[in-house]
Amino acid sequence: MESLYNVFKRRGYTRRDFLKSALLIASTIGMGPSFLPQVVKALESKPKPQVLWLSFQSCLGCTQSILNSTSIVPADVLSEYISLEYHETLMFSHRSKEAMDLQKGRYVLVLEGSLPVDGGFYCTGGGRSAEEILKSLMDGAGLILALGSCASWGGIAHAEPNPTKAVAVDEILKHKRVVKLPGCPPVGDVIVSVIASFVVTGKPPEVDGEGRPRVFYGQTIHDRCYRRPFYDAGKFVGSFEGEDAQRGYCLYRMGCKGPITRNACATVRWNGGLSFPIQSGHPCFGCSEADFWDRGFIYRPLSVVEEGFSWKEALAGALIGTALGYGTAYINKKLGGG
Ligand code: SF4
Ligand code: SF4
Repeated sequence: MESLYNVFKRRGYTRRDFLKSALLIASTIGMGPSFLPQVVKALESKPKPQVLWLSFQSCLGCTQSILNSTSIVPADVLSEYISLEYHETLMFSHRSKEAMDLQKGRYVLVLEGSLPVDGGFYCTGGGRSAEEILKSLMDGAGLILALGSCASWGGIAHAEPNPTKAVAVDEILKHKRVVKLPGCPPVGDVIVSVIASFVVTGKPPEVDGEGRPRVFYGQTIHDRCYRRPFYDAGKFVGSFEGEDAQRGYCLYRMGCKGPITRNACATVRWNGGLSFPIQSGHPCFGCSEADFWDRGFIYRPLSVVEEGFSWKEALAGALIGTALGYGTAYINKKLGGG
């Protein structure tokens, strides 16, 4: 199987173009320019990665995200660089694992979407449940990626009332090492970089306690946000139409969840590194954090959300309050207080 460098050459790109991509890969995977020779050697000599892409309960936003990722390698190279052996949604028929000629320990299993644990009613394919399909392909994968917030945390399908009993993939693959790339969707260049780092190093990236690559999820959006000086100075946007918004002040009061959200948006950015939601004037709503959907209240300031307000809790509080009221009245009555 050919290497990334050969794909560049065959597509008519220069050595300079290839080195530029290699440098981007080195920097995005946290290896830095001093590791460039090692990265170049690996990309010249190692075969391109075999990828199996299974889609479960998802909106296919993660597929769309990688298709739009063109800043690390050009689009036509990307489509060839990743040897997509099988994509559950883009390809019509089920191919058998044997027919795919997968190389043990070398292929990447990409999992998009949450899994229903409803007994095989939802999300079946060819008469097999999502869980069966997943388990038939997991052995032998050198890298298992849970792509997006659905595969990482259960995502939207897992939101209340969770009719399919959706779970994150690592709840099924309990004894496997699953690398999570949460986000709704995750940044496309992050997906490409993590797969590239597997080609270069031959092993999964270093992860945090939640299974997320430290290089991309080690800091919060707030840690790296260019509006941070305004936050520190206490200058906040109070309305999307106001002058404060035009001045680019901090979006905390508009509901920004950057302080509790770990993702690469503020560093890698979107659309070829062009921008990210906060740069476009919209608060981060924390799409890469678990259960962000159930927390809701996109435009509610974090200080209010962190106080723990929810309709459920308000209702429970009212019920407890009513019960306490009745209890107090009963005790008073017994004590002859009224
Ligand atoms: S806009 Fe959001 S992430 Fe940026 S400094 Fe303000 S609160 Fe933090
Ligand atoms: S800025 Fe926040 S909500 Fe927007 S994509 Fe990034 S993590 Fe998700």
